Amino acid sequence: MKTLVLASNNPGKIREIRARFGELGIEVMPQAHYGIEEVEEPHVTFLENALAKARHAAQRTGLPALADDSGICVQALQGAPGVHSARFAGEPRSDARNNVRLLDALAGVSDRRAHYYCVLVLLRHALDPQPLIAEGEWQGEILHAPRGDGGFGYDPLFLDPRLGRSGAELPLEEKHAVSHRGKALRALFERVRREQ
Ligand code: IMP
Repeated sequence: MKTLVLASNNPGKIREIRARFGELGIEVMPQAHYGIEEVEEPHVTFLENALAKARHAAQRTGLPALADDSGICVQALQGAPGVHSARFAGEPRSDARNNVRLLDALAGVSDRRAHYYCVLVLLRHALDPQPLIAEGEWQGEILHAPRGDGGFGYDPLFLDPRLGRSGAELPLEEKHAVSHRGKALRALFERVRREQ
């Protein structure tokens, strides 16, 4: 594996993943480089959505492809917003409106338990019968009001009780050490290293 296409156009993710895989001599190229547009994410699980994205990119390029899918799952909401995290408050997607909707949904609810989830899927080729799959979770609680101005998405409302800080109060490095995406990336990195 020399070049990997990343089924995401998010500059933050591209930078992070490119740095890690560079250590293994694998070049990570965003799918936009090959003129590939984002696909629909119609499925009810993170895993199926990530697989669909990776397969589309592998089919279009003939290269190994990596995709991720992530979101926040709230216990008292039976796992919602889940796969709908990015658009919880509808179109156009807005972190601010999503956060307001989440606070509204939890008004008067005392069980504030929630977790972030991330799954990464790596297909060696479009018909790979055994994709490499890595997951990560980050357990926390939904605050009653936003805290901090870092991070993105639901981070101002997501408290890590062990650290006593919200996702938006953690410097990027610290967040990466405990976050769903950090854990999934480290797990995938180990899997790929063993295959090299
Ligand atoms: P995607 O995996 O880029 O599609 O992200 C899904 C959505 O989940 C994002 O738009 C955010 O709303 C939420 N999300 C995923 N990971 C994080 C995180 O680390 N912090 C805050 N929100 C997140």
